[in-house]
Amino acid sequence: MKVSSKDNKKVAIVTGASRGIGKAIAFRFGEKGARVVVNYKNSFREADEVVAEINNSGGEAVKYCADVSEYLQVQKMVEYVVEKWKKIDILINNAGIVKDSLLIKMNLDNWDEVINTNLTGTFNCIKAVTPIMILQKSGYIINISSICGVRGNFGQTNYSASKSAILGLTKSAARELGKFHINVNAILPGFNLTAMSKSETEGNSVAISKKMIERAKAESVLNTLGNLDELSEFVVFLASLKSVSGQVFNIDSRII
Ligand code: NAP
Repeated sequence: MKVSSKDNKKVAIVTGASRGIGKAIAFRFGEKGARVVVNYKNSFREADEVVAEINNSGGEAVKYCADVSEYLQVQKMVEYVVEKWKKIDILINNAGIVKDSLLIKMNLDNWDEVINTNLTGTFNCIKAVTPIMILQKSGYIINISSICGVRGNFGQTNYSASKSAILGLTKSAARELGKFHINVNAILPGFNLTAMSKSETEGNSVAISKKMIERAKAESVLNTLGNLDELSEFVVFLASLKSVSGQVFNIDSRII
Protein backbone atom coordinates (compact mmCIF):
# COMPACT_ATOMS: atom_id res chain seq x y z
CA MET A 1 0.00 0.00 0.00
CA LYS A 2 1.33 3.41 -0.96
CA VAL A 3 0.81 6.10 1.63
CA SER A 4 1.20 9.78 0.80
CA SER A 5 0.29 12.66 3.10
CA LYS A 6 0.83 15.43 0.57
CA ASP A 7 -2.86 16.17 0.02
CA ASN A 8 -4.08 18.84 2.46
CA LYS A 9 -7.57 17.38 2.72
CA LYS A 10 -7.95 15.22 5.81
CA VAL A 11 -9.26 11.67 5.39
CA ALA A 12 -11.56 10.49 8.17
CA ILE A 13 -13.13 7.07 8.74
CA VAL A 14 -16.22 7.21 10.93
CA THR A 15 -17.50 3.78 11.93
CA GLY A 16 -21.24 3.35 12.40
CA ALA A 17 -21.97 6.55 10.50
CA SER A 18 -25.26 5.54 8.91
CA ARG A 19 -27.21 7.35 11.63
CA GLY A 20 -27.12 8.94 15.08
CA ILE A 21 -23.87 10.18 16.58
CA GLY A 22 -21.71 8.73 13.77
CA LYS A 23 -23.79 10.47 11.13
CA ALA A 24 -23.50 13.80 12.97
CA ILE A 25 -19.70 13.39 13.21
CA ALA A 26 -19.36 12.31 9.56
CA PHE A 27 -21.42 15.27 8.45
CA ARG A 28 -19.36 17.69 10.53
CA PHE A 29 -16.07 16.37 9.09
CA GLY A 30 -17.56 16.74 5.59
CA GLU A 31 -18.56 20.32 6.37
CA LYS A 32 -15.00 21.09 7.50
CA GLY A 33 -13.60 19.85 4.18
CA ALA A 34 -12.48 16.34 5.12
CA ARG A 35 -12.93 13.28 2.91
CA VAL A 36 -15.21 11.00 4.87
CA VAL A 37 -15.70 7.24 4.89
CA VAL A 38 -19.21 6.46 6.11
CA ASN A 39 -18.88 2.97 7.55
CA TYR A 40 -21.93 0.85 8.36
CA LYS A 41 -22.90 -2.78 8.75
CA ASN A 42 -26.50 -3.19 7.58
CA SER A 43 -28.14 0.14 6.89
CA PHE A 44 -26.98 0.77 3.32
CA ARG A 45 -29.89 3.06 2.42
CA GLU A 46 -29.26 5.26 5.44
CA ALA A 47 -25.53 5.25 4.62
CA ASP A 48 -26.33 6.28 1.03
CA GLU A 49 -28.38 9.18 2.38
CA VAL A 50 -25.54 10.33 4.64
CA VAL A 51 -23.09 10.18 1.73
CA ALA A 52 -25.49 12.09 -0.53
CA GLU A 53 -26.10 14.70 2.15
CA ILE A 54 -22.35 15.28 2.60
CA ASN A 55 -21.65 15.34 -1.15
CA ASN A 56 -24.59 17.68 -1.81
CA SER A 57 -23.28 20.13 0.77
CA GLY A 58 -19.92 20.42 -0.96
CA GLY A 59 -18.14 17.69 0.99
CA GLU A 60 -16.68 14.42 -0.21
CA ALA A 61 -17.84 11.07 1.16
CA VAL A 62 -18.06 7.39 0.29
CA LYS A 63 -19.82 4.60 2.10
CA TYR A 64 -18.15 1.35 3.07
CA CYS A 65 -19.87 -1.72 4.48
CA ALA A 66 -17.75 -3.52 7.08
CA ASP A 67 -18.66 -5.25 10.30
CA VAL A 68 -16.17 -3.77 12.77
CA SER A 69 -16.21 -6.95 14.82
CA GLU A 70 -14.64 -8.82 11.86
CA TYR A 71 -10.97 -7.94 11.51
CA LEU A 72 -10.66 -9.01 7.86
CA GLN A 73 -13.56 -6.76 6.86
CA VAL A 74 -11.98 -3.84 8.69
CA GLN A 75 -8.61 -4.52 7.05
CA LYS A 76 -10.27 -4.50 3.61
CA MET A 77 -11.92 -1.18 4.41
CA VAL A 78 -8.57 0.32 5.39
CA GLU A 79 -6.95 -1.01 2.19
CA TYR A 80 -9.80 0.48 0.16
CA VAL A 81 -9.39 3.91 1.77
CA VAL A 82 -5.61 3.96 1.32
CA GLU A 83 -6.00 2.87 -2.30
CA LYS A 84 -8.55 5.63 -2.89
CA TRP A 85 -7.20 8.54 -0.87
CA LYS A 86 -3.62 7.46 -0.07
CA LYS A 87 -3.82 8.13 3.66
CA ILE A 88 -5.93 7.98 6.82
CA ASP A 89 -5.68 11.00 9.10
CA ILE A 90 -8.55 10.32 11.45
CA LEU A 91 -10.35 7.26 12.80
CA ILE A 92 -13.53 7.71 14.81
CA ASN A 93 -14.52 4.47 16.52
CA ASN A 94 -18.21 5.07 16.94
CA ALA A 95 -19.98 1.85 15.88
CA GLY A 96 -21.78 0.37 18.84
CA ILE A 97 -24.80 -1.63 19.89
CA VAL A 98 -26.83 -2.36 23.00
CA LYS A 99 -28.40 -5.67 24.04
CA ASP A 100 -29.86 -4.78 27.39
CA SER A 101 -30.82 -7.28 30.03
CA LEU A 102 -30.55 -7.66 33.75
CA LEU A 103 -27.29 -9.37 34.66
CA ILE A 104 -29.10 -12.35 36.10
CA LYS A 105 -30.98 -12.89 32.83
CA MET A 106 -28.24 -11.96 30.40
CA ASN A 107 -27.28 -14.73 28.03
CA LEU A 108 -23.77 -15.23 26.70
CA ASP A 109 -24.79 -14.32 23.15
CA ASN A 110 -25.89 -10.86 24.27
CA TRP A 111 -22.70 -10.45 26.26
CA ASP A 112 -20.47 -11.56 23.35
CA GLU A 113 -22.26 -9.53 20.68
CA VAL A 114 -21.89 -6.29 22.60
CA ILE A 115 -18.26 -6.92 23.58
CA ASN A 116 -17.36 -8.02 20.04
CA THR A 117 -18.91 -4.97 18.40
CA ASN A 118 -18.12 -2.22 20.88
CA LEU A 119 -14.76 -3.32 22.27
CA THR A 120 -13.23 -5.76 19.77
CA GLY A 121 -14.57 -3.57 16.95
CA THR A 122 -12.67 -0.60 18.37
CA PHE A 123 -9.52 -2.71 18.77
CA ASN A 124 -9.84 -4.06 15.20
CA CYS A 125 -10.09 -0.60 13.68
CA ILE A 126 -7.17 0.76 15.71
CA LYS A 127 -5.04 -2.26 14.80
CA ALA A 128 -5.86 -1.93 11.10
CA VAL A 129 -5.16 1.83 10.76
CA THR A 130 -2.11 1.95 13.01
CA PRO A 131 0.46 0.71 10.42
CA ILE A 132 -0.76 3.43 8.03
CA MET A 133 -0.60 6.15 10.68
CA ILE A 134 2.88 4.98 11.76
CA LEU A 135 4.09 5.32 8.14
CA GLN A 136 2.53 8.80 8.01
CA LYS A 137 3.94 9.67 11.45
CA SER A 138 0.59 11.24 12.26
CA GLY A 139 -2.97 10.33 13.08
CA TYR A 140 -5.93 10.94 15.35
CA ILE A 141 -8.00 8.18 16.88
CA ILE A 142 -11.10 9.07 18.86
CA ASN A 143 -13.06 6.35 20.60
CA ILE A 144 -16.71 6.93 21.42
CA SER A 145 -17.15 5.41 24.85
CA SER A 146 -20.08 6.32 27.09
CA ILE A 147 -20.80 7.85 30.43
CA CYS A 148 -22.02 4.30 31.30
CA GLY A 149 -18.40 3.15 31.05
CA VAL A 150 -17.68 5.23 34.15
CA ARG A 151 -20.99 5.24 36.03
CA GLY A 152 -22.31 1.80 35.05
CA ASN A 153 -25.96 1.46 34.16
CA PHE A 154 -28.88 -0.66 35.25
CA GLY A 155 -29.50 -3.43 32.68
CA GLN A 156 -26.28 -2.68 30.80
CA THR A 157 -23.50 -4.77 32.34
CA ASN A 158 -22.34 -5.85 28.88
CA TYR A 159 -22.52 -2.38 27.37
CA SER A 160 -20.94 -0.62 30.38
CA ALA A 161 -18.13 -3.19 30.53
CA SER A 162 -17.40 -2.67 26.82
CA LYS A 163 -17.37 1.11 27.21
CA SER A 164 -15.20 0.96 30.33
CA ALA A 165 -12.69 -1.29 28.60
CA ILE A 166 -12.47 1.19 25.73
CA LEU A 167 -10.98 3.67 28.20
CA GLY A 168 -8.16 1.28 29.13
CA LEU A 169 -7.64 0.56 25.43
CA THR A 170 -7.50 4.30 24.69
CA LYS A 171 -4.94 5.09 27.37
CA SER A 172 -2.71 2.09 26.55
CA ALA A 173 -2.83 2.79 22.80
CA ALA A 174 -2.01 6.45 23.49
CA ARG A 175 1.06 5.38 25.48
CA GLU A 176 2.25 3.05 22.70
CA LEU A 177 1.50 5.33 19.75
CA GLY A 178 2.53 8.73 21.08
CA LYS A 179 6.05 8.34 19.76
CA PHE A 180 4.59 8.07 16.23
CA HIS A 181 2.60 11.29 16.71
CA ILE A 182 -0.66 9.38 16.84
CA ASN A 183 -3.10 10.90 19.32
CA VAL A 184 -5.66 8.59 20.93
CA ASN A 185 -8.51 9.98 23.01
CA ALA A 186 -11.97 8.94 24.13
CA ILE A 187 -15.18 10.81 24.72
CA LEU A 188 -18.08 9.95 26.97
CA PRO A 189 -21.36 11.08 25.45
CA GLY A 190 -24.31 11.30 27.82
CA PHE A 191 -27.88 10.60 26.76
CA ASN A 192 -28.45 11.60 23.12
CA LEU A 193 -31.70 10.90 21.35
CA THR A 194 -30.74 8.41 18.60
CA ALA A 195 -32.02 5.05 17.37
CA MET A 196 -29.85 3.42 20.05
CA SER A 197 -31.22 5.36 22.99
CA LYS A 198 -34.74 4.88 21.60
CA SER A 199 -34.19 1.13 21.47
CA GLU A 200 -32.91 1.27 25.04
CA THR A 201 -36.04 3.04 26.06
CA GLU A 202 -38.65 1.37 23.86
CA GLY A 203 -37.37 -2.05 23.00
CA ASN A 204 -36.76 -3.88 26.23
CA SER A 205 -38.21 -4.62 29.57
CA VAL A 206 -35.43 -3.09 31.66
CA ALA A 207 -35.81 0.53 30.77
CA ILE A 208 -38.94 2.62 30.56
CA SER A 209 -38.80 5.26 27.88
CA LYS A 210 -40.04 8.56 29.24
CA LYS A 211 -38.82 7.75 32.72
CA MET A 212 -35.27 7.26 31.46
CA ILE A 213 -35.27 10.52 29.56
CA GLU A 214 -36.67 12.39 32.53
CA ARG A 215 -34.10 10.78 34.83
CA ALA A 216 -31.24 11.74 32.52
CA LYS A 217 -32.52 15.31 32.44
CA ALA A 218 -33.01 15.41 36.19
CA GLU A 219 -29.42 14.24 36.71
CA SER A 220 -28.13 16.98 34.40
CA VAL A 221 -27.13 20.21 36.11
CA LEU A 222 -28.64 21.97 33.09
CA ASN A 223 -31.76 19.77 32.87
CA THR A 224 -30.85 18.81 29.29
CA LEU A 225 -29.91 15.81 27.17
CA GLY A 226 -26.84 15.56 24.93
CA ASN A 227 -26.55 17.78 21.86
CA LEU A 228 -25.33 16.11 18.64
CA ASP A 229 -24.20 19.37 17.04
CA GLU A 230 -21.96 20.21 19.96
CA LEU A 231 -20.69 16.65 20.31
CA SER A 232 -19.68 16.46 16.64
CA GLU A 233 -18.08 19.90 16.81
CA PHE A 234 -16.06 18.75 19.82
CA VAL A 235 -14.89 15.58 18.04
CA VAL A 236 -13.70 17.54 15.00
CA PHE A 237 -11.88 20.00 17.30
CA LEU A 238 -10.25 17.15 19.25
CA ALA A 239 -9.02 15.69 15.96
CA SER A 240 -6.94 18.84 15.48
CA LEU A 241 -5.19 19.05 18.87
CA LYS A 242 -1.58 17.94 18.57
CA SER A 243 -0.77 18.14 22.28
CA VAL A 244 -3.67 16.14 23.71
CA SER A 245 -3.59 12.33 23.96
CA GLY A 246 -4.65 9.54 26.31
CA GLN A 247 -7.51 11.65 27.68
CA VAL A 248 -11.18 11.04 28.36
CA PHE A 249 -13.71 13.83 27.83
CA ASN A 250 -17.15 13.84 29.34
CA ILE A 251 -19.53 15.48 26.83
CA ASP A 252 -22.46 15.78 29.15
CA SER A 253 -23.98 17.88 31.90
CA ARG A 254 -24.28 15.08 34.41
CA ILE A 255 -21.42 15.25 36.91
CA ILE A 256 -19.59 11.98 37.51
P1 NAP B 1 -27.21 4.14 16.67
O1 NAP B 1 -28.10 5.23 16.29
O2 NAP B 1 -27.80 2.81 17.00
O3 NAP B 1 -26.13 3.91 15.49
C1 NAP B 1 -25.20 2.89 15.59
C2 NAP B 1 -24.38 2.85 14.34
O4 NAP B 1 -23.41 1.79 14.46
C3 NAP B 1 -25.18 2.55 13.09
O5 NAP B 1 -24.65 3.31 12.04
C4 NAP B 1 -24.92 1.08 12.85
O6 NAP B 1 -25.01 0.75 11.48
C5 NAP B 1 -23.49 0.96 13.32
N1 NAP B 1 -23.08 -0.40 13.66
C6 NAP B 1 -23.60 -1.23 14.59
N2 NAP B 1 -22.94 -2.39 14.62
C7 NAP B 1 -21.94 -2.27 13.69
C8 NAP B 1 -20.89 -3.11 13.26
N3 NAP B 1 -20.72 -4.34 13.80
N4 NAP B 1 -20.07 -2.68 12.31
C9 NAP B 1 -20.21 -1.45 11.75
N5 NAP B 1 -21.19 -0.60 12.12
C10 NAP B 1 -22.04 -1.01 13.08
O7 NAP B 1 -26.27 4.53 17.91
P2 NAP B 1 -25.84 5.98 18.48
O8 NAP B 1 -26.75 6.31 19.56
O9 NAP B 1 -25.61 6.91 17.37
O10 NAP B 1 -24.45 5.58 19.18
C11 NAP B 1 -23.22 5.72 18.52
C12 NAP B 1 -22.11 5.46 19.51
O11 NAP B 1 -22.22 6.36 20.61
C13 NAP B 1 -22.15 4.06 20.11
O12 NAP B 1 -20.84 3.57 20.28
C14 NAP B 1 -22.80 4.29 21.44
O13 NAP B 1 -22.44 3.30 22.39
C15 NAP B 1 -22.27 5.65 21.82
N6 NAP B 1 -23.10 6.37 22.79
C16 NAP B 1 -24.39 6.69 22.49
C17 NAP B 1 -25.15 7.38 23.43
C18 NAP B 1 -26.57 7.79 23.16
O14 NAP B 1 -27.21 8.34 24.07
N7 NAP B 1 -27.10 7.61 21.98
C19 NAP B 1 -24.60 7.70 24.68
C20 NAP B 1 -23.29 7.33 24.93
C21 NAP B 1 -22.54 6.68 23.98
P3 NAP B 1 -25.92 -0.44 10.90
O15 NAP B 1 -27.34 -0.12 11.19
O16 NAP B 1 -25.61 -0.48 9.46
O17 NAP B 1 -25.50 -1.68 11.63
